[in-house]
Amino acid sequence: MKKALQACYATLLILLLSFPIAALADKRVNFIDMDHEIYLEPWGSYQKLIGLQSEAESYDELDYLWWLLRKAQAENLVYFYDDFSRTVKQANNLVTTDTPLAIQARLSLFQGLIERRKGDYSRSQETLSKALIQAKEAQLSRLYVYGKQELAYTKTLTELFETSLVDIQEAYVEAFALKDQFLIASINETYGAIYGYLHDYKKSIEYYQRALEAYQALQYPAHVAEAIYGLASTYRYWGKYQLAIEYFEKYQQQTTYTPNSNISFFSAYGIGMTMAEQGDCLAAIKVIDEALAIKGIVDYNAELYKRKASCLISLGRFAEAERALNSAASIFADIPELIGTNWQLEVIKISAELAHARGQHDIGYRLLEHYYRQYTDLLLKNSSKRLLKVRASLEVERQKVAQALSEERQQVESLELEKRQSNATQDIYFTVFITCGLLIVLLVIIAQYRSNRKMHLLTIKDPLSGLFNRRYIFDYLDKAGLADKSEKMQMSIILIDIDDFKKINDKYGHPVGDEVICQVAEIGSDIFRQGDIFGRIGGEEFMCILPRTDVSTAKQIAERFLCAINQSTVVKGHQDKVTVSIGISALSPQCHDIKQLYINADQALYQAKHFGKNQISIF
Ligand code: GH3
Ligand code: MG
Ligand code: MG
Repeated sequence: MKKALQACYATLLILLLSFPIAALADKRVNFIDMDHEIYLEPWGSYQKLIGLQSEAESYDELDYLWWLLRKAQAENLVYFYDDFSRTVKQANNLVTTDTPLAIQARLSLFQGLIERRKGDYSRSQETLSKALIQAKEAQLSRLYVYGKQELAYTKTLTELFETSLVDIQEAYVEAFALKDQFLIASINETYGAIYGYLHDYKKSIEYYQRALEAYQALQYPAHVAEAIYGLASTYRYWGKYQLAIEYFEKYQQQTTYTPNSNISFFSAYGIGMTMAEQGDCLAAIKVIDEALAIKGIVDYNAELYKRKASCLISLGRFAEAERALNSAASIFADIPELIGTNWQLEVIKISAELAHARGQHDIGYRLLEHYYRQYTDLLLKNSSKRLLKVRASLEVERQKVAQALSEERQQVESLELEKRQSNATQDIYFTVFITCGLLIVLLVIIAQYRSNRKMHLLTIKDPLSGLFNRRYIFDYLDKAGLADKSEKMQMSIILIDIDDFKKINDKYGHPVGDEVICQVAEIGSDIFRQGDIFGRIGGEEFMCILPRTDVSTAKQIAERFLCAINQSTVVKGHQDKVTVSIGISALSPQCHDIKQLYINADQALYQAKHFGKNQISIF
């Protein structure tokens, strides 16, 4: 019972201790899941993310990267484009090969948008294509479709309408399969833009409308605003000025979700320009002045000044028109990229209008002529520029195909290499196997040879002395007996018998006797020549056959042998001298029978014994 109570307390203590840790862990913000939240409330989320900066910096690098990504996403939606570029750059600097593809793909997508805004369309296409590859590899199908839609829109900007329509169609099918309303809405918005560029305004409006309804259902304020702006612009280009103004005003109301004044500038700009195009100059000038007061985007201001000047001319307010034109001209003069563009040239055209309105037709005519000359040059330049753009885009397409082909080739090559490697391994195994087999066979042959040799040696050698045995010696003599007469003519034999061997045996025992036999054998082996056949033919009897040797040479050799025995041979460990008796016989015209040769030698030996031993006797 007490034990159960203790266990209860312990569990409670663990729970109490772990609670604050768990609570702390829960408090950690998961930036990955913030996607929807940012779309719903871009400004609120942006502020929240800024508030979490120091906390995010204390997290590990991966979480910090997610924080940067989400911040960039929010910055993009609240029109903080400069901050957006900076954040993306900061995140890109932290990317390594270990960074998850989910982050890399999103960053590439953002980078593509930044490049597109800068007007670097070819680069943007490359970066967006990279994002698509990364998204596909990471199996992020939604991100993949979204990227495809952005790529299609980028292609539209380089006027590759056909390919972008094909791409957007594919993206639409995939988005539909995913049943994703946001993706479908984004694609519809892009359709709206493409048809707008194609001057098919009716279709453009239709698609923008669909996108707008979907965004409204999702309650994504920034996207709703974009769709409304699309509608307003299309209506403006379509010449439906009333509707354009209506939508620009709606846009103005919609953009209150962000405090960024640039957005209200866009609506004032849109309304002012539309009113001017509509011919409602008094109202237009008022709105244009409001827009100019916001100090929005400087090149848009130049456009406003030009439209204002036109209006002022039509109202007969020439001095003010001239001031507005000068403002526009000085803005263009400060922006090198805009010099020589149609926007800048229009200043000359309006100046010509002003001159005509003032009755200065000469000046007006010269200005107009100047304008048209420059405008023609510009058209020529633009058409080649457009060609360059199209070519650049086609180049990107070509590179993509080349890359796909090279990837495929690499795959084939790596498969072939694998196959070659496996073949090489098989070859190595085969060679090793064969070599081992051959080695084993060789070893068996060597072993066999050695054993045969051993067997052979056993049959021809005397085991005690290591000399040839009796059988070998007599076999040799038998064979010599069959040889030619001339060969036989030159043969001697020396027969050796140890003197009083029996006594040695009796005195010191058989092992000592064996020792003496070996000593005599050794001396004989030293003295007799290479071609001589020296062997033990009985207990203490030896014979040496000397082929091609006459009797006198045989005698000399026998003397050397006897001398060596006398000089050194004593019974091992004792003082008793060992002597031998020697009988020599040789083949001669009188004796050419081998058997007789042996008998003669034996007789000579007997004689040597008879005359006192330790001597040589010749038959
Ligand atoms: P002689 O000087 O007349 O030759 O006298 P001997 O004693 O040497 O002659 P004998 O032929 O009577 O004796 C030979 C002895 O050699 C007889 C035998 O016991 C001994 N003997 C034979 N074979 C071996 C052997 O392999 N080892 C030893 N230790 N003795 C052997
Ligand atoms: Mg004997
Ligand atoms: Mg003897």
